[in-house]
Amino acid sequence: MKKKLVILGGGESGVGAALLAKQGGYDVFLTDESSLKEIYRNELLNAGIEFEEGKHTDEKILNADEVVKSPGIPEKNEMVKKIRAKGIVIISEIELAYRFKGDSKIIGITGSNGKTTTTALTYHICKTAGVDCAMVGNIGFSFARQVATDPKPLYVAEISSFQLDDIKTFRPDVAIITNITEDHLDRYEYKFENYIRSKFRIAMNQTKSDHFIYCLDDEVTMKYLNHPIAIGFNIQSKQLPISMKKEPPNGAFIKDGDMYVRTGNDYVSMSVYDFALKGIHNQYNTMAACVAASTLELRKEKIREAVTTFQSLEHRMEPVATIRGVEFINDSKATNVNSTWYALESMNKPTILILGGVDKGNDYSLIVDLVKEKVKAIICLGTDNRKIHEAFGNITSTIVNTGSAAEAVHAAFHFAEKGDVVLLSPACASFDLFKNYEDRGNQFKKAVKDL
Ligand code: ADP
Repeated sequence: MKKKLVILGGGESGVGAALLAKQGGYDVFLTDESSLKEIYRNELLNAGIEFEEGKHTDEKILNADEVVKSPGIPEKNEMVKKIRAKGIVIISEIELAYRFKGDSKIIGITGSNGKTTTTALTYHICKTAGVDCAMVGNIGFSFARQVATDPKPLYVAEISSFQLDDIKTFRPDVAIITNITEDHLDRYEYKFENYIRSKFRIAMNQTKSDHFIYCLDDEVTMKYLNHPIAIGFNIQSKQLPISMKKEPPNGAFIKDGDMYVRTGNDYVSMSVYDFALKGIHNQYNTMAACVAASTLELRKEKIREAVTTFQSLEHRMEPVATIRGVEFINDSKATNVNSTWYALESMNKPTILILGGVDKGNDYSLIVDLVKEKVKAIICLGTDNRKIHEAFGNITSTIVNTGSAAEAVHAAFHFAEKGDVVLLSPACASFDLFKNYEDRGNQFKKAVKDL
């Protein structure tokens, strides 16, 4: 008899899992309590996969041998509770994809910030070096869909903590934790430690032949790190480049504006000024990607070339335009204070900062010093801006409220002079005024282009 696999959630990862499971010989049933996107509904129909939408029917679910839970569904969901109570095993979509990936290799990238950037850059380095690979997770297809429809010898996978919560055997050949800061605590019983442990699951099945890459400058990672195969990267290491020639230390570091990455018995060195990605946070992301590339023993010229030619991602420190000498940057993806800290840190011109939206318990004191040093005016873009006024009212002489991207851009342009930069890096979620961060970024870019 075929094994019955039920898939909870019909988004990109759920539908990808359904296609792969069907191909893999399971008896598949997909269920979603909301309605499905038309494109996904059609795919399921075409593949002959049974599904329901707008409801969960107990009898069709609780007889499963195994359940794939989409990462967006929390443990407190009633259906998840019933499945757990019955003792049915729940796995994540990446666990399912892992079962079918064959001999292919995986570079898995997790962390609180920088996942997408590091994933995209790692992929770009691999492609530049001629490796046949696919980028999966947040950008592109889900891992399961890629394995089902276009398998590759190497997958560069962005992995959230929610995906890691339900892995069993998933074992990336190369694992990266970019950094760990508080996030998503509502899904982890408000215990930071639970979230940290979830991130470390990326390495739990690794063996001696694998690689685990982490940031030596990240306090939380260092506190919890206990891994025999770890390779670190950091900035301003005490190790000197001279010693690298004889006995290269593992990993990467940046000293006096130059990055050194060990590759085999050699090392790649290059100036951070040649990195396509700017800002300290991106120096970390670049090191992480280069160390991952070095484990594949890619040609160092190719690594160097890729690091300089990478095109920045949409909504992440994305240059939009320069109008009458005023530069506009879209960092709409910065939805927490930590991200905005890094954005401000990388500014080297007087800055008009567009800030605000839905506050997830922000502590603005983290960016007070940078605001004092670099910000001329703050443009609030949210329905409730009280906290921003409280935090910066005595620091910045100009703080104004706006209620749309167009208003915010006009106000910012009004206060800007030639040589200034207008930075949208809101430190908040977007859903008070926008559909999501992409919508906010797109409306910002349109308003800039309409100026
Ligand atoms: P993620 O996929 O983890 O959400 P992204 O690569 O999309 O991360 O970057 C989101 C935002 O986080 C960026 O706009 C940037 O401001 C900030 N960021 C990126 N990399 C880092 C890093 N290594 N450390 C801290 N913040 C970062």
